[in-house]
Amino acid sequence: MRSRIVPAVLSATVLALVFLVACGSGEPDERAADQASQDVSARAVGDPEVELAPATSPASTEPTTTTTTSSTTTSTTIVPPLSARPVYALVTASGVVLPVRRAADRPLVATPCQNELVVDEPDGAVEQLGSVHVVLDPGHGGLEPGAVTSDGLSEAELNYAVAKIAEVQLEHLGFEVILTRYGDHRVPLRTRVELAEALDAALLVSIHHQGTETNIPVQDTPGTEIYYQTDSPESKRFAGLLHEEAIEHLGAFDNDVWFAGVDAGATRRPNAATGEDFYGMVRTPTMPAVLAEMAFMGNPAEVELLRTRRFRVAEAQSITDAVVRWFSTDDPGSGFTEPSFGLRSSGGGGGLTGCVDPDLGIDTSLPGSPLLGVGAPSETD
Ligand SMILES: [Zn+2]
Repeated sequence: MRSRIVPAVLSATVLALVFLVACGSGEPDERAADQASQDVSARAVGDPEVELAPATSPASTEPTTTTTTSSTTTSTTIVPPLSARPVYALVTASGVVLPVRRAADRPLVATPCQNELVVDEPDGAVEQLGSVHVVLDPGHGGLEPGAVTSDGLSEAELNYAVAKIAEVQLEHLGFEVILTRYGDHRVPLRTRVELAEALDAALLVSIHHQGTETNIPVQDTPGTEIYYQTDSPESKRFAGLLHEEAIEHLGAFDNDVWFAGVDAGATRRPNAATGEDFYGMVRTPTMPAVLAEMAFMGNPAEVELLRTRRFRVAEAQSITDAVVRWFSTDDPGSGFTEPSFGLRSSGGGGGLTGCVDPDLGIDTSLPGSPLLGVGAPSETD
């Protein structure tokens, strides 16, 4: 919370409306949905747990350490300091995160659909963000639900639920974290990456769940797929750490059949034609980034687990523990596998075409020039 320059002034009523939009009526796990709702509120109005997190000063030059002692082990979490910064993003009253393109009394921001807006009253109407340690990116949203089970559990809501839990866990440890979306709305890939860049994030973790249903061999450990950046040793290291944590936390569940594809483990997915990384969320960021397919929505046994709060917490915990180890240790990680080359369909999504901005809930001046279609990168999700 240290880099939040101005306290949030979001109303509970608005947040409740956001939640209704976000979760729709198809949520089969009411308890998880309720928790997600509380989590949305917690982020915006201040979670008592998070408020207890050890404080770091934005201007501090020394890392903060948190020592956690259990009955058997003592571990130390190092939270690097964040420099004092100008405002790099706004969170609107409706919970939409807007990267700032030009800081000013009336800042120029980019909307999720890459329209430019001038915000009239940023001090009174929105939360203002400085830099962060980690950007967590819940994949998909809005009209791009990602994988969907036959009874309506969408990857978009699952990705969000896990990201939200991980955010609370990491903030409790003292890390600054932001999600690329706090509602069920469209965020094109370039906006997700722009946000991470604007916030000067040290690490970007894109959270997904694999929808593939065919030609999947089964195995006795989770088949979590973590794609790292070809040219980034630190991205690769994080992928190896997340692999270890996923095996530990997800593998603890009593599950007879885990799905796993050829990409199980910490791997790369280069484009067969160009050699560039296939996924835009891995290829385009300048900071270390990974895209993780945490579990398989095509496996009924895993779907049953994915409906439970316990399993979502375990997924989040694997991300959180990997983040802590990435910042605090030189552990190299493991589980590295040979790239399979990007021959499978990606499932698409993530582009700007047809993008409709969500309700931003802020006062704005006349919009600037729409940027739709200008030099769009290959929008591969
Ligand atoms: Zn996905």
